[in-house]
Amino acid sequence: MEEESLIERFDKILTSAKIYEYGKYPVKGCGIWLPYGFEIRQRVIEIIREVLYKTGHKEVLLPMLIPKDMLEKEAKHIAGFLEQVYWVTKGGTTKLDIELALRPTSETAMTYVFKDRISSYRDLPLKVFQIVSIFRYETEATRPMIRVREVTTFKEAFTFHESREDALLQFEEAYNAYKEIFDRLGIPYITPERPAWDRFPGAEITVTFDTILPDGKTLQIGSVHYLGQSFSKVFDAKFMKKNGEYDWLYMLSYGISERAVASLIIHYADDTGAILLPSIAPIQIVIVPIYYEYNKAEISKYANEIKEILEIAGYKVILDDDPDKTPGEKFYEWERAGIPIRIEVGPKELKERKVTIATRLRNKSVIELDALFKSLKSALIEMETKLREKIRNEMFSRIERVKKVSDLENIINSGKVAMFNICSNEECGMHVEESVKGTRFIGYDAKQRIKGFCIVCSKETEKIGYLAKKY
Ligand SMILES: [Zn+2]
Repeated sequence: MEEESLIERFDKILTSAKIYEYGKYPVKGCGIWLPYGFEIRQRVIEIIREVLYKTGHKEVLLPMLIPKDMLEKEAKHIAGFLEQVYWVTKGGTTKLDIELALRPTSETAMTYVFKDRISSYRDLPLKVFQIVSIFRYETEATRPMIRVREVTTFKEAFTFHESREDALLQFEEAYNAYKEIFDRLGIPYITPERPAWDRFPGAEITVTFDTILPDGKTLQIGSVHYLGQSFSKVFDAKFMKKNGEYDWLYMLSYGISERAVASLIIHYADDTGAILLPSIAPIQIVIVPIYYEYNKAEISKYANEIKEILEIAGYKVILDDDPDKTPGEKFYEWERAGIPIRIEVGPKELKERKVTIATRLRNKSVIELDALFKSLKSALIEMETKLREKIRNEMFSRIERVKKVSDLENIINSGKVAMFNICSNEECGMHVEESVKGTRFIGYDAKQRIKGFCIVCSKETEKIGYLAKKY
């Protein structure tokens, strides 16, 4: 599958499901969350918040504007972002003394703010996050939700610690929190540790969560960075240790964006449109009454009765009684929106006190109203389990084990990600990256170890690496 066709298909799904509008607003790289998409986004944010609160993170909100001298304090950091920063240079018609950046990320502002709130080891660890818009002047082709200039849903967490060891323990905790978030969202992933030349600007260790899309390209959906003392040193962010001495703070940062929503939609969709997991869907059930003028009142009453029962039972349900659309039009609309279950009620159902249940996976059955809860519950559970397993299996089938450098190109060209043993020598990683045009050595698996020999230099190693085309 060509890149263009996957993105084009994604864009069509976003439009037809009324999730997100892209390319119409007259500022390049800015998307519009429509009401239904906003609800899906809210559900994703809800899960992220739940996991972060549970693991002791507190939510904060810092200004969007960052003064030029603050942003430029950490040299590697600003070098990595310089070409992507939007600058506010005027207030009205007055030129500003100090130019202000629209935050591209918040490491500098967070260090500046929290250095004054941490004076001793007693204040540590400190774990905060915010969910905000960030701005990056992307020069590569922009893509809906995936590469935008205003990232509207940037969850960035920052933690402060008294030692490298403590910070690295938190690294593990952050990794596990992200695992839980993506597992709950039903997004499968691999977790490579990025090679030195591809780390976040200013980080000493970067581990990312990458999902492999149906065209075989990877999409980075989350990242965890160990920043060491690089930011705290330039901001002179010191604290008093237990022994009375002073040291600079050890820091982490980790982020997730609306790419999480994008990968959900891309992975689960079919040729008709979006498919939402019952646990994520803002609407789980749509009731479509099928009536003529003469029996409209009775059937509407029955449909409303079912709606009430389902609401009391805690389902997220809507009744589509729009008189201007045919039932067929409604079926098609809600299918494209990815609603897990449709309930049809017509004269036959009313007469027999039954309902027809149709799942988004096209299973249809007629059941007694008394059996509605049981049937719905099992239909939703079955759908949830089946879908999750299917997507997981599909994603992992896009990884192929490779033993020889000369085999890499074929594997990549067949729409897969190549996996191989590789030693930690940087040159071997670079060699792999250069061996197939347009690919990236995305890194060393952060967890998985398999005994073998480096694909490049044949040295014995347990490390596993990945070569892929990347979004
Ligand atoms: Zn090697």
